[in-house]
Amino acid sequence: MHDAAFAAACVDARYELLELEPEAVPAVVAEARGPEWLGLQVTAPYKRLVADLVDEVEREAREIGAVNSVARGDAGSLVGFNTDAPGFRVAVELLLGRSVAQLDTVVAGAGGAAHAVVHTLLSGGARTVTVGNRTPAAAEALADRLRGVAPPGEGAGTARRPALQTTVLGSHDFVAACEAADLLVNATTVGMLEPGMTIPVDRLRGDSAVFDLVYVPPETPLLAAARARGLLAANGAEMLVQQAAIAFQRWTGVGGMADIMRSAIAELLADPAARA
Ligand code: NAP
Repeated sequence: MHDAAFAAACVDARYELLELEPEAVPAVVAEARGPEWLGLQVTAPYKRLVADLVDEVEREAREIGAVNSVARGDAGSLVGFNTDAPGFRVAVELLLGRSVAQLDTVVAGAGGAAHAVVHTLLSGGARTVTVGNRTPAAAEALADRLRGVAPPGEGAGTARRPALQTTVLGSHDFVAACEAADLLVNATTVGMLEPGMTIPVDRLRGDSAVFDLVYVPPETPLLAAARARGLLAANGAEMLVQQAAIAFQRWTGVGGMADIMRSAIAELLADPAARA
């Protein structure tokens, strides 16, 4: 994706993949202060570690508790930011054809990706956000971290502040929230690493939408079941593309690369039934 965009933008750079042991991460981040670097990205489990290795962490990434992208400034300073949250925002708006404002939403999962998704839903003005996780303590920790997030201009305690609640996947409360939801998001690894699905598709409203962050395989059992019911549904490929385009623009100043990046991964990752 990135190399296709570098070529299209005539930027003499390349995106390299490194598999690192935890103890090697600080040295690589320090190396990225050098003039030949534009920045870097990290994935789980290093999204928290890298936040401590950069000079500045932008507010959204700080609130989410995860830095997945770093941009190098002219003097070698490093700024950490998060592209999962804005990538999800763009992708979910493409699916819905509208913003998440005033929607009742359910998120399955409480890991790093779920933090970015819940932040987007809260700052986007969703009416309710119900987080269901297998391990209740992780959902509660997520809620403790993100409870204060509100749409811009909405201070604590205002009437339009989204309601955030936690529950356990598969519980009565979780299923009830799913039945009432406009938008349901899978932010667990279920469907990718483990078989099965987190959301009871047979209980959803006929006008609800399902967004699965998983993009390998392109159609998870959750998406197949949602589409069999005629629900609006998308996988995580568009979020991946959008977050990449956001990082690329930060590094190079060149925007508008999403189409090129999407084409570059189409054969590998494209969602065959995507409506975007
Ligand atoms: P993570 O931090 O490891 O979190 C994993 C989550 O999955 C936790 O909530 C965990 O619950 C849950 N989980 C794992 N196995 C489960 C099972 N058998 N049953 C129920 N819940 C289970 O991972 P992450 O970084 O948040 O990533 C989550 C998914 O999002 C991955 O598939 C990843 O590829 C995808 N993702 C996609 C994008 C994109 O651009 N499309 C971006 C980021 C992530 P417990 O707390 O109970 O362990």
